[in-house]
Amino acid sequence: MRPETTAYVALGANLGQPARALREAFVALDQAPGLRLVRASSLYRTAPVDAGGPDYLNAVAKVATTLNALELLDCLQAIEHGAGRERPYHHAPRTLDLDLLLYGEGRIASPRLVVPHPRMGQRAFVLVPLAEIAPEWVAPAQLQAVADQRVARF
Ligand code: ADP
Ligand code: MG
Repeated sequence: MRPETTAYVALGANLGQPARALREAFVALDQAPGLRLVRASSLYRTAPVDAGGPDYLNAVAKVATTLNALELLDCLQAIEHGAGRERPYHHAPRTLDLDLLLYGEGRIASPRLVVPHPRMGQRAFVLVPLAEIAPEWVAPAQLQAVADQRVARF
């Protein structure tokens, strides 16, 4: 048996029924082989960043997994696909986006996967829910730096 690694996943959706998509994604994260949900943040309503379209709902999940990081990415993409995710263009509105924020203490820079997620430090929609469930990973100064971005508890 491979040991479990703690990982954090950012969830986002702004098409269809976003609240339902996020709640179903939490269940999918708990049911996928090699993965279990340890903690789910609240849902947050946020303004789109670098993108148009309706407001997003965002959340963060803490998971424990025996998958390696690329296997976990495959699993996240399979869950996105199951939720009807299409990628017509970069930053298009989406039914479900699952990004791997942190994988243990791991640092990964491969063509398919960069961890820690390179843009997490600039995004209130990631930092606020992450701070709710894992304050040790978010410095107060980081939250200060993104305080101008609109994030409200759903
Ligand atoms: P974004 O999340 O940036 O809006 P996508 O969800 O379409 O865009 O992801 C584009 C690609 O980003 C994926 O195909 C994946 O290979 C790559 N990627 C790199 N690092 C990560 C990560 N940490 N989490 C999720 N995807 C990642
Ligand atoms: Mg993504």
